[in-house]
Amino acid sequence: MRIVIAQMSHETNTFSPVVTDLARFSGGRRHPLHGEDAINVYQNTASCIGGYLAVAEELNSDIHIPIAAGAAPSGPVEDDAYEYIAAQILGAVSHCDVLMLDLHGAMVTRSHDDGEGELLRRIRAIAPDLPIAVSLDMHANIFPDMVDLATIVTGYHTYPHVDMFETAERAARTLIATVEKQVSPTLTWGNNPMLPHVMRQGTDDFPNRELQLRAQEMEKEGALAVSLFTGFPHADIPEAGLSVVVATDGDMELAERLRDELLENAWNERSAFVYTVEPLDFSVAKAKQLGSTQQAKGPVVLLDHYDNTASGGTMDTTDVLKEVLRQKLDDVAVCAIYDPEAVNAMIDAGVGNTVTLSLGGKLPMPALSRISQPVEVQGHVRLISDGRFPTTIAMGRGLMTDMGKTAVLSTGTVDIMVVSRHFEPVDPGCFRCVGIEPTTRRFLLLKSRIHYRVGFREIAREIVECAGLGVCTSDYSEIRFERVRRPIYPLDGVNTRKSP
Ligand SMILES: [Zn+2]
Repeated sequence: MRIVIAQMSHETNTFSPVVTDLARFSGGRRHPLHGEDAINVYQNTASCIGGYLAVAEELNSDIHIPIAAGAAPSGPVEDDAYEYIAAQILGAVSHCDVLMLDLHGAMVTRSHDDGEGELLRRIRAIAPDLPIAVSLDMHANIFPDMVDLATIVTGYHTYPHVDMFETAERAARTLIATVEKQVSPTLTWGNNPMLPHVMRQGTDDFPNRELQLRAQEMEKEGALAVSLFTGFPHADIPEAGLSVVVATDGDMELAERLRDELLENAWNERSAFVYTVEPLDFSVAKAKQLGSTQQAKGPVVLLDHYDNTASGGTMDTTDVLKEVLRQKLDDVAVCAIYDPEAVNAMIDAGVGNTVTLSLGGKLPMPALSRISQPVEVQGHVRLISDGRFPTTIAMGRGLMTDMGKTAVLSTGTVDIMVVSRHFEPVDPGCFRCVGIEPTTRRFLLLKSRIHYRVGFREIAREIVECAGLGVCTSDYSEIRFERVRRPIYPLDGVNTRKSP
């Protein structure tokens, strides 16, 4: 059996000014990974491609990866990048027996609101009967063709996403069982008029914990795959928001019943998906107080959740850092400010020398009315690094994290990591690779939303969520929704979950 495994993965924040070109999918190479190089990178890793490879290798099949293109979240995907990636996949499908796709589900391109649906339409035009498995991120915004044109669709059950491998494995095993005529997947889907807040979507917390457990129960009770997608709200497209996709073995009545139960449960708990923002100065003062107690061990984490790379943030806003400096918190490590110019200035200055920098605040954000500005800081260059370290946490284990050229600026009270590539600090290795031991610091400032929990929740004494500035703002009133279907909760008062 010839199996093609391909990745086209991007979560698009339509409010983000960060450009999504082919270079962003290529990880410093000329083009995205493919072929044996891709197999070598992803084999035995906690990733979707890792899960697909595990099943394909069991079958002693002929495996081909025409492209492994995943990029950190950012603005709409440029058309030439999309066309390149789609062409690699389309070129491979005509001579394969099955196709296993690692897609995100929230890809918006300059020309298509549903990047994944467009890919599937093109594939079906040349391969109408090809068995296709699709694994999706929990933040997928589902459009009809993403379900209608796939043979099987599976989604993550965890956020932080620590079950990527298992999600792809579930899709792959169901696909192979379909080819072997052991099952015949019947898919259905539906959505609710609701935009769950990302800060309230974690599966450690009510209500998504309970919703995902119920979906997993349904799979144990006989459904082939049950996926509740909380959706990605920072995408101003018609189908953004919460949806459910169910696959059963030929039983449409059961599929619809399970779908409706989950949609109803999610709708009933919609108010628990709403996030309340508190003022930044209050949050930082609270963190300072928590950090001053001697009894507790471990750092207080200040979470700069308006500017998270993995939600499309520029990673260069400085509002939380400025407030930390203004309130004079001591023994702080910051991960990180994206500012390649500042990194180069520190490299030019050299380790041990003093520099004055106008740090961050360089990418304009036209979607926001507030202006992002740099912070003026003076300090000494503590360390320069290539910014690469092996990921050891449950999300992406086995892959390299690449922060790009990295330098640490020390003000005496605050150590600021300045990086040249966008990434989300989820693995404490980001600090350790630049000589900072996070467990012994009084405060850590992280640009993250929920994924930090994988590596930092266990070591933190407290978490304080800080409302800074950024295009993944947690305050919906800061951005203008013009294209999402209306009415939708909580932007509008909605009393029924049935879309009009
Ligand atoms: Zn996600």
